[in-house]
Amino acid sequence: MERSKRIILVSHCILNQNTVVQPLARAKGAYKDIVMELINNDIGIHQLPCPEYRFLGLKREPMTKEQYDTEGFRNINKRIAVDTVNIIKEYISNGYEVLGIIGINESPTCSINGDKGILMEELINILRYEDIKLNLIDVPTDYHDGEKGERFIAELKSMVI
Ligand code: SF4
Repeated sequence: MERSKRIILVSHCILNQNTVVQPLARAKGAYKDIVMELINNDIGIHQLPCPEYRFLGLKREPMTKEQYDTEGFRNINKRIAVDTVNIIKEYISNGYEVLGIIGINESPTCSINGDKGILMEELINILRYEDIKLNLIDVPTDYHDGEKGERFIAELKSMVI
């Protein structure tokens, strides 16, 4: 059996910058350095859905958390959060190591540190309720692959190795 049994959850756009609000994309496709770090450590990558894409699609304009915080958008995020926690519980109950979640700092939806985004609020609330403790880190706002991203890759290494 070749499975490493080590999993990490990542915000959708870490693997696919094509869903990001147009002027804010920071790579053509994936954040290669982040993804390669995970691949090189034999870590399975669980890509969370992009709630903003589901709600408003590709032509959406940049919006604040307050603007997004409607019943409809909350409900999308609550459903994703419940689904995600069920996936995490299935891994844990089968002896897998869930290393943590990587969010996107200052996103109205996917930020973990500071003012939490709406998805992460919902997700972390359920994780707390279920008493599941995970490492939680954000890709910083100035992250780019290459030199600008080195500090974050070092932080990620300390989490995954
Ligand atoms: S909603 Fe989350 S996954 Fe989607 S583009 Fe924004 S930060 Fe990335």
